[in-house]
Amino acid sequence: MVLNKQGYKIRSSINTNLNFKELQITHICKPQLKNSYISIDKKANIILKTPQVSSTYIHNLLLKKEVWIRKKIQSTLSHPPLIFNLDGIHSQKSKDILIKRVEHFAKKMGLQYSELKFRKMKSRWGSCSSTKVITLNKKLVKTPDICVDYVIAHELAHLVHMNHSKQFHTLVQTYIPYSAKAKELLSRIVFE
Ligand SMILES: [Zn+2]
Repeated sequence: MVLNKQGYKIRSSINTNLNFKELQITHICKPQLKNSYISIDKKANIILKTPQVSSTYIHNLLLKKEVWIRKKIQSTLSHPPLIFNLDGIHSQKSKDILIKRVEHFAKKMGLQYSELKFRKMKSRWGSCSSTKVITLNKKLVKTPDICVDYVIAHELAHLVHMNHSKQFHTLVQTYIPYSAKAKELLSRIVFE
């Protein structure tokens, strides 16, 4: 355990690269973790997060998870990432593009929101509050049109159903028949 001058545990994480049966693995050691996690990112990188553990523990964990890792990598590689940059996402032009689509769908669906907000978000494309405020991720403007329309119709549909019930999905599907494709594309988007 690493302690600082005051005797507190240093909670820094250490990144190392491991090689396991020709698989390149980024190992992030975080002393504060309780469990270990393996994930495959959209670019098929293998990320292993663990507390301070022995190399034997890591080896056994990887052995146990090897089949899952290889399968997951294969499926990730068959759906390659869609890479976009963030240029211009804060511009008025980007905002206007999204506002136009929101107004289009609100009219088409016969729905009214109280306010439209834009934020740069990490893990969500949009949200709809109980006070009918629609928030869109500024990054959305960079995604394919079918994704933009899907996210907007999805958030607007929450003005009617504040859940992801069957009725909610039916409503979205009525306006966006290609929702499944849009969702699949959104799951592959990576920003650099
Ligand atoms: Zn939703």
